[in-house]
Amino acid sequence: MGLLEGKKALITGIANERSIAYGIAKAFHREGAQLSFTYANEKLRKRVEEIAGEFGSDLVFECDVSKDEHISNLKEELSKAWNGLDVFVHSIAFAPKEEFKGGVIDTSREGFKVSMDISVYSLIALTRELLPLMEGRNGSIITLSYYGAEKVVPHYNVMGIAKAALECTVRYLAYDIARKGHRINAISAGPIKTLAAYSITGFHLLMEHTIKVNPFGRAITIEEVGDTAVFLCSDWARAITGEVLYVDNGYHIMGVFDREERIKREVFGEGQ
Ligand code: NAP
Repeated sequence: MGLLEGKKALITGIANERSIAYGIAKAFHREGAQLSFTYANEKLRKRVEEIAGEFGSDLVFECDVSKDEHISNLKEELSKAWNGLDVFVHSIAFAPKEEFKGGVIDTSREGFKVSMDISVYSLIALTRELLPLMEGRNGSIITLSYYGAEKVVPHYNVMGIAKAALECTVRYLAYDIARKGHRINAISAGPIKTLAAYSITGFHLLMEHTIKVNPFGRAITIEEVGDTAVFLCSDWARAITGEVLYVDNGYHIMGVFDREERIKREVFGEGQ
């Protein structure tokens, strides 16, 4: 029996098969969850419908999270289709491309507002709206963060500020929903080549650096994020809430980075 057998899960944030949310959907499907999906705009509808079909679902709803009416329609439509909801995956972030070019000091008022709205407020609004569907079901919510929330990652800029706010939001929401028996956690994923990632100036260098420095020396995959999401949404994680769990091959434990090559050369005499 799968770890999510009988659970009903709503997955947001699939743009294509490279999306982190796609890796989560794949893992949830393998573990027996029933899935429904949202797409942000009409351009993505067909693609998300095809992906839903791949997972045996025809429940696909439009939800641009900058629009309150889309969020309340989503609740209406979902409650017509299902008698409840066990899991909700928030895999959405956005900042205008120009916000990744300079430094935080160059952040525009509009860029700040839109990044916080789409990437952070959407978690609050969706959680509030979807909560009644989770009544009596010990629901679980997952969102996606990144290390730039706590340390400076050059060019990540306003998105780092948004991720810090997102992680804080997870803690406050965890408190708010705990009395109803629900949980919320964030996965802090290492860099993955997705559409959103390519907006970040110099993303390929960030990726190269992360692979070189993390203890395993490799990139993480959307499947690895998916497997962690399964655990967090399963009953095995029933006492875990308000947490930020790293899926980054251990990158965040490292303090000193560039010694490895010199140690090999100067201490062990390798490559001489
Ligand atoms: P992705 O495939 O581009 O997914 C981002 C999703 O957010 C897209 O489906 C996008 O839809 C959606 N979105 C943007 N604005 C929206 C809006 N107004 N309403 C509804 N949906 C909206 O990229 P991803 O990397 O999988 O990103 C998923 C999450 O993981 C994000 O929170 C990201 O910050 C986080 N994350 C990513 C990495 C990484 O390295 N890739 C690492 C750690 C955390 P559109 O395509 O229509 O804009």
